[in-house]
Amino acid sequence: GLEVRDAVVRYGATTAVDHVSLQVTPGAVVALLGPSGSGKSTLLRAIAGLEPLVSGAVLWDGTDLARVKVHKRNFGMVFQDAQLFPTMTVGRNIAYGLGSLGRAAQRERVAEMLDLIGLPGFESRRVTELSGGQAQRIALARSLAPSPRLLLLDEPLSALDTGLRRRLADDLARILRATHTTAIHVTHDHQEAYTVADTVAVLQEGRLLQEADPDALRRTPASREVAAFLGFRA
Ligand code: ATP
Ligand code: MG
Repeated sequence: GLEVRDAVVRYGATTAVDHVSLQVTPGAVVALLGPSGSGKSTLLRAIAGLEPLVSGAVLWDGTDLARVKVHKRNFGMVFQDAQLFPTMTVGRNIAYGLGSLGRAAQRERVAEMLDLIGLPGFESRRVTELSGGQAQRIALARSLAPSPRLLLLDEPLSALDTGLRRRLADDLARILRATHTTAIHVTHDHQEAYTVADTVAVLQEGRLLQEADPDALRRTPASREVAAFLGFRA
């Protein structure tokens, strides 16, 4: 699995990630929960290899990934805006990372992914004619298609309206479990974190304040800061 060991990321004088340590065991889903500017995206980008560490390390099964290039890490990413390739069909988007498979195997995998996300038969649809929720489902299918060993989700539901966000959070939780996907899900929405994740890591000003399962977090917040952020009085 993944281990982040005492990671520090700075932008000039700003310490965006401040000595964070985190482990994600195979098959687990961890939510990174924190307010705007708490360092969630920066930590995710550092794990992906898109942001250099000042100190500390990102390891996979004990191996330091410092010299492993972004595309060699076999991590998938989903962002707030789906970032689909607008000139390609839905099917071509999902097949994008499947270059090592033959045509027939690609088609089969794409159909399997579309079934999984509840959009069967969408292969030849145009990306520009999808709703926001459909586009996010396709982005999820595209990132899951090559079976990444870790999926990094940066507020994938934040751009959607509340009702749709709740439904998609349920679907996402189901899909991650059905595919045994190991994932880190970034959100500033407590409810969404509790729905999607086995464990919730609370970030504030770059520091990891507490990591616990949703029930433990609600019952016994580790500090006044955590309680305050979660909306409890301590
Ligand atoms: P949000 O919920 O708004 O997406 P976040 O928790 O993802 O916030 P980050 O984007 O990781 O927060 O930012 C953490 C800190 O690093 C903030 O103080 C931010 O201003 C700063 N920061 C982020 N990216 C850059 C950058 N490219 N250059 C300089 N400072 C940055
Ligand atoms: Mg962010």
